[in-house]
Amino acid sequence: MIQYQGSLFRPPSEANSLILQATLGCSYNRCTFCAMYREKSFKVRPLHELKEEIAWAAENLDGVRKVFLADGDALVAKASFLADLLGEIRAALPGLRRVSCYASPQALQVRTVEEMSQLRELGLTQYYLGIESGHDHVLLDLEKGVDADEMVRVALKAHEAGVKLSTMILLGAGGHRLSQEHAVESARVVSAINPRFVSTLVMTPVEGTPLWESSLRGEVDELSAVELAAELREFILNLELDGSIFRSNHASNYMTLAGNFPRDKESLVGALDQALAHPERAPFRPKWARGL
Ligand code: SF4
Repeated sequence: MIQYQGSLFRPPSEANSLILQATLGCSYNRCTFCAMYREKSFKVRPLHELKEEIAWAAENLDGVRKVFLADGDALVAKASFLADLLGEIRAALPGLRRVSCYASPQALQVRTVEEMSQLRELGLTQYYLGIESGHDHVLLDLEKGVDADEMVRVALKAHEAGVKLSTMILLGAGGHRLSQEHAVESARVVSAINPRFVSTLVMTPVEGTPLWESSLRGEVDELSAVELAAELREFILNLELDGSIFRSNHASNYMTLAGNFPRDKESLVGALDQALAHPERAPFRPKWARGL
């Protein structure tokens, strides 16, 4: 039996994956908007506990093809621990196609290209990276702990290791004042990385976070659905990607879009132009139906 500890999170595309908590919490845990692991202290779980969970999954779950290593930044655990864990997973689950995890920029700073390459050979072939913004001031406000250049540098380390990246941008994170620059700079950084997947989330104050505290003081400058659509248009217009898949399907978005780059760039911009021209008819998700 797998007994998950505390709150559990996974990206939307891991809905059908077996989730194993290789680590608990996030070793960084400082991003101002992130409520995911506030209640947890970071810890690498003992391998023997994980082995029991893997054995249970092998016995009780049919055809596991994908495994997601939770919690926040499993990649920060020692490479030797991750290699042993991946070895166990591969041996027990013969139908396995891929293993993925969240990767904080801090974890990508710690792991060498050689380590990431070895772990990829053992099955850890995809990381989810929250870039959030390509604008240095926005990154500083969000307390991501890295600037835009460093974000690109560490992301390219993962590329060099042959690992696929799925990246996230936080719409609205620059408020009204930096909306345009946030969109343009984020597109610049994402284009420099050229990840396999790009998605957007909308910055939303969540209780228990510094962002929530700021919002209670009236200090968070939130964008409306229409303003976010304009920001997203600017972001997409400035993206120069080759072979990337774009999605705005996370529940925090007001408008769900999907397409492949470079093929669908024009039609994505067109859909946003239409929404901006006729916001009353635009397929915006109502505020109450959004979530995190
Ligand atoms: S690195 Fe990720 S999980 Fe950790 S605090 Fe930041 S956003 Fe949350």
